[in-house]
Amino acid sequence: MKLRWRASGGSRRSLGWIPFKATAIRYRNGQLFIGQMPLSLWDSCGLAGHELGSGNISEDSRGRWYINICVKLSAQQGSRRSGATGSVGIDLGLKDFASRSDGHVVGPARHYLKLEAEMAKAQRARKKARVRALHAKIKNSQKDQLHQLSTALVEEYGAIFIGNVSASALAKTRMAKSVLDAGWSAFRTMLQYKCDYAGVWFKEVDERYSTQTCSCCKRRTGPRGLQGLGIREWACLECGAYHHRDINAAQNILAAGRRRLVEGIPVLPAPGAAALG
Ligand SMILES: [Zn+2]
Repeated sequence: MKLRWRASGGSRRSLGWIPFKATAIRYRNGQLFIGQMPLSLWDSCGLAGHELGSGNISEDSRGRWYINICVKLSAQQGSRRSGATGSVGIDLGLKDFASRSDGHVVGPARHYLKLEAEMAKAQRARKKARVRALHAKIKNSQKDQLHQLSTALVEEYGAIFIGNVSASALAKTRMAKSVLDAGWSAFRTMLQYKCDYAGVWFKEVDERYSTQTCSCCKRRTGPRGLQGLGIREWACLECGAYHHRDINAAQNILAAGRRRLVEGIPVLPAPGAAALG
């Protein structure tokens, strides 16, 4: 048997990937030097202001090259954010990417569904370049969205709670599942490290019944089962509260997270204290 994990030509060619150590790189006047080799790049995040660590240069399926690099942020940049003391719950969904307990709905997962349809078409027509381009497009736009969302949350809140849902349990098609699962776990990972760095409390909570439970009276009067999947808004039969399905779920996730926080920390910091965690 032959190992083929770094095929260098033809349709099975591996994508380029070049790791480097912190000591091998320098950044000067908009160019990155790896050893003596200068690389021009589009610097979207202001590398000049940071101490550079190790990383790698990688190629995507369209032959475009990216640099992934660790940077050390100064302590000031980190502590700037930890003054936030509010908390928020997040419900990840199929229809919208995420709904927040504060009423923000971050769409649209529909974006992926549209690209998915285009992808299926390209696959049927055996247009390989188009399929690769669409894959890269989906991945990139998703990554951008996740970075923006996670950064905004970490700046705004002192505690963030997210449901532990997995897309495999929900999505109908294989493509949607894999894209959503990858997106959701990437989003949790981003939130985790951004929260760690900024001193923001972050916890995944069990989101069972978060959709069914009325966030006002806590009775399970909400949509349930397969018949309930299409219901986006509902009124509680017990207390009359009117709910957006996913925002209600996010509010329940927030409540569950707060309960755990109270159980875990006997004395909560006074309002205005720097950080919850
Ligand atoms: Zn109710």
